[in-house]
Amino acid sequence: MMNQRYVMALDQGTTSARCILYDRKGKQASVAQKEFAQIFPREGWVEHDPMDIWSTQISVAQEAMLKINATYENIDSIGITNQRETTVVWDKETGKPVYNAIVWQCRRTAAFCDELKAQGLADAFRQKTGLLIDPYFSATKLKWILEHVEGAYERAKAGKLLFGTIETWLIWKMTEGKVHVTDYSNASRTMMFNIHTLKWDEDILKELDIPLAMLPEPCPSSMVYGNCHERLFGGPVRICGAAGDQQAALFGQACFSAGEAKNTYGTGGFMLANTGQKPVMSGNGLITTIAWGLSGKVYYALEGSVFVSGATIQWLRDEIRLLDDAAQSEQMARSVENAAGAYIVPAFTGLGAPYWDPYARGAVLGLTRGVNKNHLVRAALESMAYQTYDLMQAMAADIGRSINTFKVDGGASANDFLMEFQAGLMDMPLYRPQCIETTSLGAAYLAGLATGYWKDTDDIISNWQAGCVFEPDMDGKAREELLAGWHKAVKCTFGWAKE
Ligand code: ADP
Repeated sequence: MMNQRYVMALDQGTTSARCILYDRKGKQASVAQKEFAQIFPREGWVEHDPMDIWSTQISVAQEAMLKINATYENIDSIGITNQRETTVVWDKETGKPVYNAIVWQCRRTAAFCDELKAQGLADAFRQKTGLLIDPYFSATKLKWILEHVEGAYERAKAGKLLFGTIETWLIWKMTEGKVHVTDYSNASRTMMFNIHTLKWDEDILKELDIPLAMLPEPCPSSMVYGNCHERLFGGPVRICGAAGDQQAALFGQACFSAGEAKNTYGTGGFMLANTGQKPVMSGNGLITTIAWGLSGKVYYALEGSVFVSGATIQWLRDEIRLLDDAAQSEQMARSVENAAGAYIVPAFTGLGAPYWDPYARGAVLGLTRGVNKNHLVRAALESMAYQTYDLMQAMAADIGRSINTFKVDGGASANDFLMEFQAGLMDMPLYRPQCIETTSLGAAYLAGLATGYWKDTDDIISNWQAGCVFEPDMDGKAREELLAGWHKAVKCTFGWAKE
């Protein structure tokens, strides 16, 4: 134990805080995890208690060390990855949050976003930030807090309040208020950050009336931000890496070059493609985001998010009760030749990229008398692959050529049927790493690169091991027919919830 050194990854997710200690090979030496409370004050509103986020995160960190009797001397550095966009505002003096954290899923600022769009600001915002105007991003959440918490605007203008996304909040807490920074990848999700100049955008701040003084200093994703206070781990530990969860996963997948992409099959689906050192603006419903800042360079990514991916299986399990366990879906899907013409479009909360229709709703189409539950489960898995296919097409159209490497991760990527079907649909091989826990690994790598724990990205590429390669094996005509049916089905769901 004495000489062992690990990098500590803090993975502050939407439902739980995790801490994982990684060794040089990228293997997990210790893991601890704790869930925290979800707060739903009204329909469509989602909040977390920032103090709860802080206390669960620090307690899992201490627990992960304790499990293997590690002291601060065994920890080379700390990397943080976090739920993105979630917004915290706190008092600079007391450290007390002035309101709960407003979570990325929260839709409370939808009407305000409609107003911004009605003012014709969408293009300008997109050019500067790479984003669509949507309640998803931090800016309108921050504005909501300033407007609805008594006295908040005056205090913010007097320089008494600070804003941060979750990595900013954790770093500020860990350094006991000494360091107020954000990394470029997280900053690029706020809708206030100019992704070209790497500065907070003064026009947008003026438009939204947000005081610059409360914003953190934007920094690269891999650098020494500061030391944790000694009382946390018994001695100082450097905090050296930070990135939003999806960007960290792209990094953990070692997608370091332009044209490399990953898709995460979790509750939702997230595809990110590295576009290198230049931002690519999407003409196909994707957003442009910063992947990371590393070694004096900034890398960009195109991103497509699908709101419901693995959650379709959860729905079939919990609400429709076609199966008891998500993993069962594989054997059920394999028990039939095809979905018998049935399609499930899981537009439960509207459609995200590339369609962006908030009024679309879910549908099951193409039913005939012979359709059984295995066909439906298969249709659900296939819907996950179709949605990913659509993102991939949008990416290829935006980049102007096809993606050259496609890696997968997330809970549902464990499903071999889904992976085979996906490879067939996209007509390209799919790489699933041995470790599908890529988010925390990415955060660890960013930290360890800043300290020299890992020498360079080649060092990390040699750690990345393909667990499985899925080769395409689908007849071209069959693919066309399946896709034509899917696109017809998707169209049927458009605008459903509009009066
Ligand atoms: P998140 O991190 O988004 O909460 P995970 O990456 O843990 O999610 O993935 C969980 C999701 O994947 C759930 O929605 C679950 O239904 C789905 N899932 C898990 N295992 C499988 C499987 N073997 N086949 C299909 N779906 C699965």
